[in-house]
Amino acid sequence: MTIAPKAPRKLSMKARYSALTRDLDWDPSYVPAEEMFPYTTFEGITIHDWSKWEDPFRLTVDAYAKYQAEKDKRLYAVLDGFAQSQGHLSLTDASYLNAMKLFLQGVSPLEYQAHRNFAYLARHLNGPGPRFASLCQSLDEIRHAQTEIHTLSNYNKYYSGFHSYLHMHDRVWYLSVPKSFFDDALSAGPFEFLIAIGFSFEYLLTNLLFVPFMSGASFNGDLPTMTFGFSAQSDESRHMTLGLEAIKFLLEQDEKNVPLVQHWINKWFWRGYRVTALVAQMLDYMLPRKVMSWKEAFELYFEQQMMNGLFQDLAYYGITPPLHVDKAIQEKEYLSHQAYWILYQFSHAAAFTTSIPTEEHMDWLTEQYPDTFPVYRTLWEKERKNLENGGRHFIRGLPQLCQVCQIPMGFTEADEPFVQCQRESIYEGERYNFCSDGCKYIFDHEPVKFRQAWLPVHQIYQGNCGAADLPGVLQWYKMQPGDGGEYLGNVDNENWKTWHDMAETTGGH
Ligand code: FE
Ligand code: ZN
Repeated sequence: MTIAPKAPRKLSMKARYSALTRDLDWDPSYVPAEEMFPYTTFEGITIHDWSKWEDPFRLTVDAYAKYQAEKDKRLYAVLDGFAQSQGHLSLTDASYLNAMKLFLQGVSPLEYQAHRNFAYLARHLNGPGPRFASLCQSLDEIRHAQTEIHTLSNYNKYYSGFHSYLHMHDRVWYLSVPKSFFDDALSAGPFEFLIAIGFSFEYLLTNLLFVPFMSGASFNGDLPTMTFGFSAQSDESRHMTLGLEAIKFLLEQDEKNVPLVQHWINKWFWRGYRVTALVAQMLDYMLPRKVMSWKEAFELYFEQQMMNGLFQDLAYYGITPPLHVDKAIQEKEYLSHQAYWILYQFSHAAAFTTSIPTEEHMDWLTEQYPDTFPVYRTLWEKERKNLENGGRHFIRGLPQLCQVCQIPMGFTEADEPFVQCQRESIYEGERYNFCSDGCKYIFDHEPVKFRQAWLPVHQIYQGNCGAADLPGVLQWYKMQPGDGGEYLGNVDNENWKTWHDMAETTGGH
């Protein structure tokens, strides 16, 4: 007698995913759960049921690896083609690369740090769902770091300012703005990190940092960066969903979590927003061919998409829009002008160059900012007179820095363009200075943490930055002649002209 073999039963997608992920999890029997997961209680967050964490993607390692490999193959094909055809000569101008120098020095190292901390979450979150999501994000982030380094390394062959970016990230004054943002998140607990990076960074900064840099690339002929951007963008949308999942999970688990989450939203909105000062000036000043103004980007990505979309959804959980949001909305009118004015005057100590906006550029700024730009135009016109008299303006002294965001004090009160905004707190007899109410609020909640901030200016004065004079500090930064200062007449500017003259006389490049 023969028995016909039964057709194998096929598992549903959901069951298959569960078998490959959550079913592999186990409950510890010879150590208490608190010992196995020691870091998820000290922040005061209460989780009753980790299995309520829904994974919206149901990725397996197999699917993940195939998908990412496809994207990498496409990217590296573009990189090769661009390198072989001297594609860098088809950029709008060598000055465009200042935006990419800032990206490589300021943002790529953050990708690597995100990789490390998501690996930590992949070990230390109690539930298998969030652990696997964190593992995937950890892999995404190291891929981003690597693809960005590969993409931009081609420019390092021909242009200044791309070398030593990791070394610079740890030491240079303007890079301490993004670095301190991430250090703050890395040294927080796992849930605060999830809100800081998974939520604020992915939501606010993906739209207000990543997208503007990538559209800037596409508008200025930078095909490799644009391709890298597309390749990362599909990961970013996964990260944004994870961030939103995390926040909803915390809010649904226990009502006691709501005020903690609200504080982190307040804090990380302002910290993220302060980092975008670098993006604001990039959009309005650094790009030779403009994409949109900072004001337009802020209105579209923040006011419309986040304030009207996201925060309306979160209101259901009792979450209100972040504190100081009104200040950010006011600042959209002048943030970029004040940020670039700072960078312009200190670029002799930076690994990017700056230059006075042309008349045409200023006309565009006047159109974009009819109410506020006229004041700054007067400033630039004064500077043009300085230039005509041979006196390009660089500040030789050291500025006071905000204790929290570490940006040199240069932002003003909203309606008074000549009154510097300065706040202070006294903590244990010491005075600390801030650029804004937002930064003061952050300090006042965690004075013990922020009093330890590694402020580049204080460190120079304390003799911890190689030397007491500018050349010595620049050497300690590993800056080379040509990395910073004025763009016009700079080595990149001169080479650019020479290469294009050559291309013209030989009929192409
Ligand atoms: Fe990333
Ligand atoms: Zn500040």
